[in-house]
Amino acid sequence: MSRHFASLLAIAAVAVTLTPGAASAAPKAVDCTQVKCIALTFDDGPSKYAGELLDTLKKHNAKATFFLEGQYVKSRPAFAKRMAVEGHELGNHSYSHPNFTTIGPAAIRSEIQKTQDIIKQVAGVEPKLLRPPYGMADIQVSDIAAEFGMPMILWTGGSRDWESKNEEAIKKQTLAVAKQGSIVLMHDWVKQTVDSMPSLIKTLQKKGYHLVTVSELIKDQKLEPGDIFPVPEGWEK
Ligand SMILES: [Zn+2]
Repeated sequence: MSRHFASLLAIAAVAVTLTPGAASAAPKAVDCTQVKCIALTFDDGPSKYAGELLDTLKKHNAKATFFLEGQYVKSRPAFAKRMAVEGHELGNHSYSHPNFTTIGPAAIRSEIQKTQDIIKQVAGVEPKLLRPPYGMADIQVSDIAAEFGMPMILWTGGSRDWESKNEEAIKKQTLAVAKQGSIVLMHDWVKQTVDSMPSLIKTLQKKGYHLVTVSELIKDQKLEPGDIFPVPEGWEK
């Protein structure tokens, strides 16, 4: 609890120092027990299209969660910083995207730590959520996530954007999996995903959805470090 509290305070302090006069960018309090919420999540970035995506999110007052790869945070630090400044959530998606269930514990720890460090360094925030590459986890990965104080976040539905790379297909598939409380998997390195966002966000908002961060969406789940959500089939701890 104290760790959680400390990181919230750290984020608040950063928000104050990084965004003087940007109070309008602060997320409005949305109560997802009262209104329909969805969390769009973008993996493997920041990609070269992240700026365009951030422009779209800002224009529509939508928040998203970016599960970032440390190697790209290092090569595109300005995008990572902008994500934090504009009220999006930054999550840890490893440094170089290995399958955590096939590498040793020291390598997993290093992948997570290096990514925490570079995000803290360039964006001033400490990710509170881990999304293991490919959504692949086992008990060892869960134990290590717990050491870092982070639950693991998977997704309730995928846009299948990396597969179709087609704007219409991405919109159709995303709308098909968009339900109250959904966590949707997308990728900002898929150009067609970024291109589809203005129309997709408009449609979702017209259906009454509020686009919120994962932490906002799962607030009532009371996840513990090392927990996995949603719990995959066959998962036992
Ligand atoms: Zn990934």
